[in-house]
Amino acid sequence: MQLMPPSHPADDFAERLRACGLAPLRSAGIEILQMNITRQCNLSCKHCHVQAGPDRAEMMSRETMTNCMTAAAHPNITTIDITGGAPELHPELEWLLGEAAGLKKRLIVRSNLVVMLDPAYRRYLDIFAAHKVELVASLPDYHPEKSDRQRGAGSFAAAIEVIRDLNHRSYGLPGSGLMLHLVHNPVGAYLPGLQSALEVEYRRVLRDQYGLHFNTLFCLVNNPIGRYAEYLKRSGNWSDYMRTLQCAFNIQTVGSLMCRTMLSIGWDGRLYDCDFNQMLDLTVNSGAPNHIENFDYHRLAEREVVVRSHCFACTAGAGSSCQGALTS
Ligand code: SF4
Ligand code: SF4
Repeated sequence: MQLMPPSHPADDFAERLRACGLAPLRSAGIEILQMNITRQCNLSCKHCHVQAGPDRAEMMSRETMTNCMTAAAHPNITTIDITGGAPELHPELEWLLGEAAGLKKRLIVRSNLVVMLDPAYRRYLDIFAAHKVELVASLPDYHPEKSDRQRGAGSFAAAIEVIRDLNHRSYGLPGSGLMLHLVHNPVGAYLPGLQSALEVEYRRVLRDQYGLHFNTLFCLVNNPIGRYAEYLKRSGNWSDYMRTLQCAFNIQTVGSLMCRTMLSIGWDGRLYDCDFNQMLDLTVNSGAPNHIENFDYHRLAEREVVVRSHCFACTAGAGSSCQGALTS
């Protein structure tokens, strides 16, 4: 499917950075290696920037995974972050987790949770716990109707059941060392509320109504690419949303943008500044190697980041990244 091109000049964001004396945006070293191991997913969420779904066939090869593990061994890389699609659907995930855990770094898997209700993937509840994998799990809203509107009927109830199973394994409980973070994003064309306030609300509702626990809430700003861009265009919200993002530009977020400390690896081994650039097919440039086969820490750690208008989503309000807001 064709991605929607931005309706604003490609260098809007670069110009804004220049006007603030912050251009060009450069990497500040690589701390996080994010691997997108598949675009296949059991869900087809309305906001999905990956445009993932059951019919996607892209899967990272064992060879590319091995190259990723070689790169991840670099001493400056502290975190391996595995995402998709639904990583659980990749037939080599169990093997990969064993290899990654052997590197003794922070190990993250991004899960939609719902997939682990399927008997074929339930074993991951124990595999994640055995490797002390930090789970980042999307739960767009604590209102079942809103969450289901975005991810499909019954998805909220399924996620709640899996959080219960994770809590039984001590995930999300204080002092257990098994971290469970939830991810909120708006179910519509607006910016998220204050992360700290929403975390209090999520915690209260999940505890009082369902008896559930989690560690942290990450709030994301929906990025205007992929299926979310299609929704914005279809609903006539594209221009307003882009204007909202541009008006909410917050200079305080620029130093902490995730692309400054992250390298994103596509299923086919190509390298990107972030998952969003990956979905727009914007590989790293500035002469740095753009495939994991040719990984060169120093050249990649000094690269200039490729920016376009969708970057305004990361600098809007409190900012947004795979770890949630960038400022409090
Ligand atoms: S948003 Fe996540 S869970 Fe939903 S379709 Fe995309 S990858 Fe799957
Ligand atoms: S989308 Fe965000 S993380 Fe990606 S390059 Fe732009 S500012 Fe950086």
